[in-house]
Amino acid sequence: MSSLSPKTLLLRLGLRPKKALGQHFLLHPHQARRIVAALNLTGADTVVEIGAGLGALTGLLAPAARRVIALERDPELARFLAEDLLVEPPGVEVICQDVLTFDFPGAAREAGRPLAVVGNLPYQITSPLLFTLIRDVAAIAQAVLMMQLEVGARLTASPGTKDYGILSVLVQYHFRVTRLFSLSPGNFYPPPQVDSVVLRLVPETPASVALDAALLHQLVKAAFGHRRKTLNNTLVSGAAAFGLSPEAMRGILAELNIDLKRRGETLSVAEFVAVSNQVARLRGIM
Ligand code: SAM
Repeated sequence: MSSLSPKTLLLRLGLRPKKALGQHFLLHPHQARRIVAALNLTGADTVVEIGAGLGALTGLLAPAARRVIALERDPELARFLAEDLLVEPPGVEVICQDVLTFDFPGAAREAGRPLAVVGNLPYQITSPLLFTLIRDVAAIAQAVLMMQLEVGARLTASPGTKDYGILSVLVQYHFRVTRLFSLSPGNFYPPPQVDSVVLRLVPETPASVALDAALLHQLVKAAFGHRRKTLNNTLVSGAAAFGLSPEAMRGILAELNIDLKRRGETLSVAEFVAVSNQVARLRGIM
């Protein structure tokens, strides 16, 4: 991999960082090493790297994994990477593709095992990417992701706090989330406007399992649709969306000792699962 700084490298390539693609390149190899070390890779792992950029992480991943699938949406960077990596150890495949269209289950099937996922994420795709990882959770062994500090705070937030939202519930339902370390803007070229944080997500069988994951997602979205509204005004008034009468939904909440005057943002992941399972059961017998 090139030892030139991202700024010099881009200048030589006649390129400028593209804001629309969230291009903020890691400046310091020791920070890249911390991210890669957090994956604890074995030589049997297949790694999917999201937004390989100028290869700050790619060059370190290659010797540690069996195969690296380096996704990069920017054709100019993908071309540079593919050429630069020609001199690197084998096992790296650079694919010029939007990660949001990547076939994680297909890649896991091909690898014969769930994938390790890593990336210094382009911040604008963080939420859709997390929903993709939730959808494809069976194909994922772990993910180490750098994201905007505020989004990271949402993933680790507790019920009743300002950061707790749809993403908190759904990510925490599917993954054990660990905050690893944060990085200030000075660690990137060009520096972003915000601080960043690196998190590890490991799929986990939840303490209480949702009978119908799609229903759980729908319920969480409905409960957070209007943050200031009480459950009476979200889930009960909107019970028809779940195929239930308001009375039936009220009954479910009463049975679970969940006060109708509470707001969705105060419900724990386990409470959301309990409501969702009661809805599923009731629908099953109606
Ligand atoms: N990994 C490099 C590093 O740490 O220096 C670059 C990280 S930079 C924050 C994000 C990278 O993701 C950019 O190279 C950008 O072009 C790429 N990117 C942006 N949107 C993408 C998408 N939808 N799919 C794949 N790559 C994308």
